[in-house]
Amino acid sequence: MKKTQPHNETLAIQLTDNHDDSGSVANVIYPTTTFKRESDGSYGSGYVYTRHNNPNRAQLEQALAQLEGAESAFAFASGMAAISTALQTLKAGDHVLVPDDAYYSVQLLVKEVFDRWQLSHSVVDMTDLDAVKSAIKPETALLWLETPSNPQLKVSDIQALADLAHEHGALCAVDNTWSTPILQKPIDLGADVVMYSTTKYFGGHSDSLGGALLLSQAATTQLAEKVKNIQNLSGAVPAPFDCWLMLRGIKTLPLRLKQQTQNATALAAFLEQHPKIKAVHYPGLPTHPQHALAAKQMKGGFGAMLSVQVGGDAHEAMALIDRLNLFTAATSLGGVESLIEHRKSVEGDHSPTPDDLLRISVGIEHIDDLVADWEQALGGFR
Ligand SMILES: *Cc1c(COP(=O)(O)O)cnc(C)c1O
Repeated sequence: MKKTQPHNETLAIQLTDNHDDSGSVANVIYPTTTFKRESDGSYGSGYVYTRHNNPNRAQLEQALAQLEGAESAFAFASGMAAISTALQTLKAGDHVLVPDDAYYSVQLLVKEVFDRWQLSHSVVDMTDLDAVKSAIKPETALLWLETPSNPQLKVSDIQALADLAHEHGALCAVDNTWSTPILQKPIDLGADVVMYSTTKYFGGHSDSLGGALLLSQAATTQLAEKVKNIQNLSGAVPAPFDCWLMLRGIKTLPLRLKQQTQNATALAAFLEQHPKIKAVHYPGLPTHPQHALAAKQMKGGFGAMLSVQVGGDAHEAMALIDRLNLFTAATSLGGVESLIEHRKSVEGDHSPTPDDLLRISVGIEHIDDLVADWEQALGGFR
């Protein structure tokens, strides 16, 4: 009989329990930078130096790989360190396609850093397959996807884009930060690389930075050694304590995400019918242009991120933030607390994000309170 894989909720506990033999139920932190060498020159535990590896990092990487169904996983000090590493596996002269709507620092990174190293890029609307096709060049080595995207919640077709990448001998990487493996598994849809800012939902409490790259079986053969080498030699590795916090976060990831997704679905429905809201961007709404695609490639919900357009200028949008009591004005997302952000003013004048757009990260507060807060805030607005 085929052994059935435990459900995510069970895995999240099993994969993060304590591994040492002290009997401690709570996980143990190994804050050491270095490990004892035996007289014969060997390292009994296999660990040498924490930049190379550390028990907390090894457990985190293992947990991430198993939750994702990936062949290998590599943890980093931040999401951006993970993205940089993915780009560093390429060579000078390669070309990368990046989405027109995506975590803004990705565009800045390819423009301001990797351009100097002769990595060229094109910015393309990943929801438009024909546009992607015509942007592919002979030297295109990587399609970078982010779906749903930041901050406009555009949904792109992972399977179709992965197929397209492979037809052209390129790799397909997906920034899956907003969905996590609980809601979307890009490798099952053909992607080679999955990237996370674990800072967000994995950590879940806005108190730890981290990132990860996860590789499919084929990508492990092709890339794992390179990634491991860059991880070690560039040294953007997470501290043991941050790995420990991520492992603790994973324990409640399925639970938090379920509640946050439910809250976001209800809040999006409320906001969509409100006369003072011009538009709501949430893939769970039947009116979302790629709702059917999102329903096909996401499982168990559409995530806990949404954005609204309130009409008017940036000043008016920011005034609305001030009227809310339960949504803290702050960047970042994925924590237990609800946050709201005027994204354009964070991204800068060159950003294509609309002036009247507010991005919301929905937390685990009671939905009735969240809706009531918006009701009162919009009541006296304009
Ligand atoms: C936050 C974020 C990143 C960057 O991660 P850091 O941990 O802040 O470096 C990348 N992609 C997405 C979608 C994010 O939300």
